Amino acid sequence: MAAATALWWQQPSPDPLDRVALPLLALLWVVLWTALRQRALRLAQAQVAVFVGHGLYLLLALDHQFRVFAPQVHMLSESTYWFAPLYAAAFLFFLPRQALRLGLPVFLSSVGIVAGHFASTPALREDTSLVASTAQFLLVGATMMLLQAVMSQRHAAMLAAQVAATQDALTGLANRRAAEEHLLALQASGRAYALVLFDLDHFKRINDEHGHAVGDQVLRACAAHALRTLPTGALAARWGGEEFLLVLPEPLLGDCPRLIETLRASLTAQPVGPVGPVTASFGVAHGRPGESSTALLDRADAALYRAKAAGRDTVCFAV
Ligand code: GH3
Ligand code: MG
Ligand code: MG
Repeated sequence: MAAATALWWQQPSPDPLDRVALPLLALLWVVLWTALRQRALRLAQAQVAVFVGHGLYLLLALDHQFRVFAPQVHMLSESTYWFAPLYAAAFLFFLPRQALRLGLPVFLSSVGIVAGHFASTPALREDTSLVASTAQFLLVGATMMLLQAVMSQRHAAMLAAQVAATQDALTGLANRRAAEEHLLALQASGRAYALVLFDLDHFKRINDEHGHAVGDQVLRACAAHALRTLPTGALAARWGGEEFLLVLPEPLLGDCPRLIETLRASLTAQPVGPVGPVTASFGVAHGRPGESSTALLDRADAALYRAKAAGRDTVCFAV
């Protein structure tokens, strides 16, 4: 539609480049859209094709205007405005490295095209107005690339900090802070949920007998077991040293005893390195209407305490 509008606007004498290039661009969009719908293409591939197609069009337009308009009007045409959004789009749609891989060749080609024309046509070099607007155009391009590269790097650092703030570094599970936020959100939603607190049995012995590094390995293995056992929608978090919290939302409540039994059995069935079977004790509490998450946690903790007192490797349900 944009291509058709642009051509209609230029009637009765459309630009010779646009007459060919705009229908080709429109065709590119239609082909990509059809391929995406038929799942013959991934979105990332389509984005690259769109970027390359539009980049080529802008470069051709730049070359074209230096041949035709620039010597007459002593400045650059409006089509050059679009280089800046193209560079911004690169950093919006692609990761920083790929954005540079795609954006930089377009920028360098624009420099090459401009330099080629100035080198081969002395009249262009003497046109101070054209030289000034071309210098501005190239400076804006370079500044855009630089700004976007710095901003995307900051954005990546911010995302990494966000992950670090909510993820347990050792196990990759949600950390206590993320779990607490999740519980508050659940409490506010008023939906039913259950908590499972489980704590590895005699974990201190593992550290004492095999060293801290092996202890860490066991913690990572337990986290992996928990993630494998839990269906989507449930949350597994590292609550403290060797204590984990599972949060089961309403649709999984009926499955709760089976899930815990699967996890308990998988912990004991697969020894980690030199450590023999690892067991854990489980405390389970189902939320009551109006109960705060802290009160529910207290009940799960009390149930876990009973499981420890009952000889460990046991599941106890809160009363
Ligand atoms: P219980 O069956 O009563 O739970 O006994 P336990 O030995 O598991 O419990 P205790 O609280 O006495 O010891 C927990 C140990 O967990 C002590 C601590 O050094 C260890 N621990 C806590 N965090 C980590 C960690 O990140 N890595 C390792 N390797 N050990 C940890
Ligand atoms: Mg323990
Ligand atoms: Mg403990």
